[in-house]
Amino acid sequence: MSVWVGMAATVRRAMAKAIRLHCAALLAPGAAIPVDRQQAHYLARVMRLAAGDTVRLFNGHDGEWAARIERLDREPVLLALELLRAQTPEPDLWLLAAPLRRELTELVVQKATELGASRILPVLTARSNPQRANPQRLRAIAVEAAEQCERLTVPAIEAPAPLASALAGWDGGRLLVAAAERAQAAPPPRCAGRAAALLVGPEGGFTPAELDGLAASPFVVLASLGPRILRAETAAIVGLALMQAPWPPSPP
Ligand code: SAH
Repeated sequence: MSVWVGMAATVRRAMAKAIRLHCAALLAPGAAIPVDRQQAHYLARVMRLAAGDTVRLFNGHDGEWAARIERLDREPVLLALELLRAQTPEPDLWLLAAPLRRELTELVVQKATELGASRILPVLTARSNPQRANPQRLRAIAVEAAEQCERLTVPAIEAPAPLASALAGWDGGRLLVAAAERAQAAPPPRCAGRAAALLVGPEGGFTPAELDGLAASPFVVLASLGPRILRAETAAIVGLALMQAPWPPSPP
């Protein structure tokens, strides 16, 4: 149950603007929520908040909570006050993307998080960029994007795996939409509540053998993202958006 409706408009406005933080702790009325040094530094030094100020917290499963800052100096801790938004189901949409240059992979993680992807799997293809992104940094980018865009979860970010093994272990119940430039293919189908995934190739594209393998897989549908050749990061953003349009109404 959302308590936004029960709140005075002024309180609701103040809470909507409150900083949002992801935390690992369970959220329940009166729960003490430890925050790490980086979060404490952000609250105290960057946002100039202090004991008594209110923030919003989410942990991926208990919804979004109002919390009061108790201490930010030693052993920084917040106190969970009340539920603001119940946890709601989110799209079951994965992104499989060949690694790009570091800053572009980071952009893709940020945008895929904003676009609701629940899991991001870097897939190694014949032409993919060998440069390795730092998984901890990618996770931090996903957390920050989730905090900013008001989602209630953070996408899982997997270790890179070869495309062939991702396909070999694929659960056939999940539709895999492979973005293929120059294919005579329809636009990506909408996932509308179904388990689905988008696959985007590297800067150099998929090889003919990879495309043949994809086309032969019963759970794969090739999709076109339009008449122009997009950069891989653009293709990931456009594909994720198209698979979810039109969007369901936002919760109250
Ligand atoms: N270098 C390749 C293009 C690769 S684009 C060439 O010149 O042919 C990188 C990835 O973005 C592709 O592997 C594909 O997954 C996706 N992509 C780019 N444009 C697309 C389009 N118009 N339709 C579908 N997928 C596209």
